[in-house]
Amino acid sequence: MQYRKLVKNGEELSVLGYGCMRFPTKNGRIDEAKADKQMLYAYENGVNYYDTAYPYHNGKSEVMLGKFIKKHDIRSKVYIADKLPAFLVNKSEQISKYFDTQLERLDTEYIDYYLMHMLDSLQTWEKLKKLGILEFIKEKKEKGEIRHIGFSFHGRPEEFIKILEDYDWEFCQIQYNYLDEYNQAGLAGLKRANELGIGVVIMEPLRGGNLAAKAPSKVKAKFDTYSEKRSPAFWALRWIWNHPEVGVVLSGMNVDEHVVENIKVAKMTKPNSMSKEEIEIINDVKVIYKELMKVPCTGCNYCMPCPFNVDIPGTFTAYNDKYFFGERQTQFMYLGKVVGMMGTEKSGADLCTDCGKCERHCPQEIEIRKELKAAHKDLDNVLIRNGLKVLGLFMGRKKSEKQEA
Ligand code: SF4
Ligand code: SF4
Repeated sequence: MQYRKLVKNGEELSVLGYGCMRFPTKNGRIDEAKADKQMLYAYENGVNYYDTAYPYHNGKSEVMLGKFIKKHDIRSKVYIADKLPAFLVNKSEQISKYFDTQLERLDTEYIDYYLMHMLDSLQTWEKLKKLGILEFIKEKKEKGEIRHIGFSFHGRPEEFIKILEDYDWEFCQIQYNYLDEYNQAGLAGLKRANELGIGVVIMEPLRGGNLAAKAPSKVKAKFDTYSEKRSPAFWALRWIWNHPEVGVVLSGMNVDEHVVENIKVAKMTKPNSMSKEEIEIINDVKVIYKELMKVPCTGCNYCMPCPFNVDIPGTFTAYNDKYFFGERQTQFMYLGKVVGMMGTEKSGADLCTDCGKCERHCPQEIEIRKELKAAHKDLDNVLIRNGLKVLGLFMGRKKSEKQEA
């Protein structure tokens, strides 16, 4: 593993951080045995930075991480990053309440890297300041309950710079990958943070998988023109670690092969080590993505739940997949949501009432309502839809016959 310092006079952190937002699941719950095995493999291969947040897996992510650390007795050997859910804080007393809950869930006495979660503008940071966040940080740092302070960001580039320059931050966390070089904080934000001596953690390096296993066949073909066989995830991660300004890169590794592969790239990529040929391949791939991607959804789920049961990320995944892979299957899957196959509740985009509740939560600033309409129009097919309805009725009858028998 390679290590870089994130904060001045701070500890050496593994360049690969474990993202606990997307643990493997089984029957809708974290698959604890699998998550433990994957985290242990990462730990044994030098990963020492573990990132979680209050809302991940409805609070169960923090608990899982706490259990993992306790079980293997490694608290002094790893660094926990956790986040104050700034978007839920409306009263001063809530700040301490959330923090205490987090310590309890993590079963720890301190948090190494504590972030204001998802600041989107200077205004949100100002709101926290009015509620006493500066006094809270001072007190917790003096007590040793918070070791380093930072913020995670999704928003416009100018707001990122304003937040960055408004406080003596030690580190920040931004979305960065080869498709987002000029989105959100972007390259300019990364460089400005570096000038100010503020460490940078990278999230969404694979854009919710769109730059990895979900990569379109045209992208894979472009990568295959290179002399050495590498996966799309390998390319995406290598591109990020090529930046000397980057500290830790978070990856949500919920499949065994992801853990193994990410560690392999983390071990071998040094800053400024990519050749001109490699950079050109990435530039060509960016063009392919721009032509194919319909909606820049990362599947983060922040817009969910929809009060009218629309599966927003599921709809956008199907919409993108149709253009990435040209598969009829994605249309069947989407229309299965529309008709409510196999006794599941209907969750197609046609249920959207335009209430707008989801849009303010989207870190990618997607015009969700507009894009849902476009997705539904594009994916809908009356013949398939009616066929699925008939199939659903037939299967429902078979099931009740079986139950009666
Ligand atoms: S705008 Fe549509 S998708 Fe968004 S929360 Fe309202 S009903 Fe759900
Ligand atoms: S629509 Fe936005 S908030 Fe919802 S899953 Fe996609 S990126 Fe996340």
